[in-house]
Amino acid sequence: MTTGIGFIGLGNMGGPMAANLAKAGLRVQVFDLLPDHLIAARQAGCHCAASAAEAVAGCELVISMLPAGEHVVGLWLGDGSGNGGLLPVLAPNTLIIDCSTIDVASARAVGQAARVLGHRFIDAPVSGGVAGAVAGSLTFIVGGEAADFESARPVLGHMGQNLFHAGPLGAGQIAKMCNNMLLAIHMAGTAEALALGVKEGLDATVLSGIMAKSSGNNWSLERYNPWPGVMESAPASRGYSGGFMTRLMVKDLGLAMGLAEHAHSAVPMGALARNLFNLHASRGEGERDFSSIINLYREMT
Ligand code: NAD
Repeated sequence: MTTGIGFIGLGNMGGPMAANLAKAGLRVQVFDLLPDHLIAARQAGCHCAASAAEAVAGCELVISMLPAGEHVVGLWLGDGSGNGGLLPVLAPNTLIIDCSTIDVASARAVGQAARVLGHRFIDAPVSGGVAGAVAGSLTFIVGGEAADFESARPVLGHMGQNLFHAGPLGAGQIAKMCNNMLLAIHMAGTAEALALGVKEGLDATVLSGIMAKSSGNNWSLERYNPWPGVMESAPASRGYSGGFMTRLMVKDLGLAMGLAEHAHSAVPMGALARNLFNLHASRGEGERDFSSIINLYREMT
């Protein structure tokens, strides 16, 4: 890489991801709307720009890590209110990597517009949460041309450990939505089983140990146990802080429902999970880790 990397969006995920690129010795030109995030990035060795356009100037690879589809479309294509997007100001043949979790239509719209202007684009949502972003151990789930995935591999490797090419443009978002819908379902199921067993007098740690060695085993039970105290490293054991917020799970389940509607695919379990997490969020739990869904069961019983 002869020129710098432009990085837009320095929130919970983007901040540590950009810091890992700087730590790897790359020149990272960053921008965020929030001054505090720019200050933290500067302390982590990034070069702060005064605008998004300045951050991507002269870069042959640019990364965005923004909340939702409207932000990604607004950044690259413009927001329709006179603020032009950044695609026209990029250097020719720039590789754009959008790591945000967004709807497939927005990812495809930006990718196709980028191609028309002579750029390359991959959708590359991540799994692994803030801890994975800090540790540089994220999983990247990529949609786009295989050659563009290979071009991105060295840079993604500074931020993640598992890099998957899911298929063509938009496939990264589709795979991410399928994964997170399944995650929501097995977390809710795990919470339901634990709440039932404890209500009937079992110890949560004993029951978890039994199910982990039986046919009910799953990632939520074994690696992210929702019952406080069963697993020291899990958010449940620190008041459900510092994990994957319930409101983000609700957002991802909404994206999965949109995908199912588009595909005319039945997702009854996903829809039920969405209702449960949405109800939980509406009771003021949106900022807590999603495994706190177990409190909904404990209150209901
Ligand atoms: P966040 O809200 O913490 O950060 C988003 C950042 O983007 C903010 O700092 C905001 O100021 C900035 N921003 C918004 N619009 C901008 C613009 N036009 N120009 C410059 N900066 C702009 O969100 P996050 O937790 O970092 O999540 C980012 C994405 O990653 C989301 O799509 C989320 O669903 C996904 N994700 C999050 C997690 C997680 O655990 N937090 C895990 C996996 C995936």
